[in-house]
Amino acid sequence: MGRTPQNTTSLDDGRFTKSDLRTMQSIWESGHFHRSPHLAVIGGGIVGLFTALFHKRAHPHHHVLVLERGPFPSGASVKNAGFACFGSPSELLADMDNEGADAMLARVEERWLGLLELRNELGDDAIGFEPTGGHEVYRAHDPLYTRVAERFDALNDLIRPLFGKTVFHWDDQALDRTGMAGLEHLARTDLEGPLDSGALMNTLLRKAIAEGVLFRPCAEVVGFEEGSNAVLIRLADSAEIHAARIVVATNAWTQELLPQLEVVPARGQVLLTNPVPGLRLRGTYHYDEGFYYFRDHAGGVLLGGGRNLDFTGETTAQEGTTPLIQDALVRLLDEVILPGTNYTIARRWSGIMGMGSSKSPIVERTSERVVAAVRLGGMGVAIGIRVARRAAGLLQE
Ligand SMILES: Cc1cc2nc3c(=O)[nH]c(=O)nc-3n(C[C@H](O)[C@H](O)[C@H](O)COP(=O)(O)OP(=O)(O)OC[C@H]3O[C@@H](n4cnc5c(N)ncnc54)[C@H](O)[C@@H]3O)c2cc1C
Repeated sequence: MGRTPQNTTSLDDGRFTKSDLRTMQSIWESGHFHRSPHLAVIGGGIVGLFTALFHKRAHPHHHVLVLERGPFPSGASVKNAGFACFGSPSELLADMDNEGADAMLARVEERWLGLLELRNELGDDAIGFEPTGGHEVYRAHDPLYTRVAERFDALNDLIRPLFGKTVFHWDDQALDRTGMAGLEHLARTDLEGPLDSGALMNTLLRKAIAEGVLFRPCAEVVGFEEGSNAVLIRLADSAEIHAARIVVATNAWTQELLPQLEVVPARGQVLLTNPVPGLRLRGTYHYDEGFYYFRDHAGGVLLGGGRNLDFTGETTAQEGTTPLIQDALVRLLDEVILPGTNYTIARRWSGIMGMGSSKSPIVERTSERVVAAVRLGGMGVAIGIRVARRAAGLLQE
């Protein structure tokens, strides 16, 4: 209120510098709207939100800000298939062959503990977890089945200590109850199942805000510079924020901010049918070495995969669907999942994962004030919470 004195600048005459504007924050802004937060997390997916929440819990007096490019969480965390899973038998055996038993066991343990922590932290009802089981299905005369069957018991022996019980069981008879065709073998675990990724992220977002994290949507970070006392973050709308520390949790889009990190965008395409009367399929399913995955959702079938048909084309951060992959998904519905059934497609969408030459996430301090928590691959639902816990831990050091 009051008149602007002649010798000061005004917004209209363009003589304010950005640093003038920063020093002109009111006590209400700086006190409550975190214009200079102790921690700014870039990216409001499962990793970013949990990292912010854990840091806030460790430092209740800290101002913690999440900067999210979309109007709400907008990355893979709200585009995925909602499998709460730790790996099919064929995937675990392939990992063991590629990286050794210890690396495979460590990864399975991370996923399993992550799922338990996630369910414990947010609650099964709140995330729509359904304990209807995880499955891998195999065609008749599928060489993959032979490879898995030969080492099935040995795999169970190896992973049993992690779970305290036998994990995978053969249950070929259950295939008759699913109504699927052309399949001969089914491996099942009772420890996996589908969840509702929208409910999960909504619950997590509300929890983070309730515990004092400030969530700023439509805030695209275009770059940052690290100084001796703070990190200067530049937003697409030209605003600037000084944060004492930052966590980059942008997963597939990480190279826009940290080009030195090996994170490659990998698109995944999905479709969902309208409710199919009498659908008998329950739980999550992996097929064809995990290149395809499907589950029941709201009485219909949610199906994704087919990246192996066009790895080059799907190495993109651009959302979109292609006839090549969508047609393959529809063929799978017609021939295997819903044979002889009338169904209609309700929706098609895509999401972008962050991948690399290793299946392990990157959780590291990239410089004094910057931590990266990225490259979640296709397992972020399972490992997101533990990646976030590690990132928050790095901030304490
Ligand atoms: C189709 C599909 C199916 C999947 N199915 C499963 C599954 O069934 N089970 C499973 O465990 N995992 C699955 N995944 C993988 C899982 O979804 C991811 O691993 C996980 O969501 C990654 O979480 P995140 O927080 O690291 O990244 P994201 O959720 O992608 O979050 C990154 C956030 O950063 C924001 N952002 C990016 N750049 C900027 C910027 N410059 N400034 C501000 N904000 C920015 C984005 O908008 C986004 O909200 C699937 C992924 C896809 C794509």
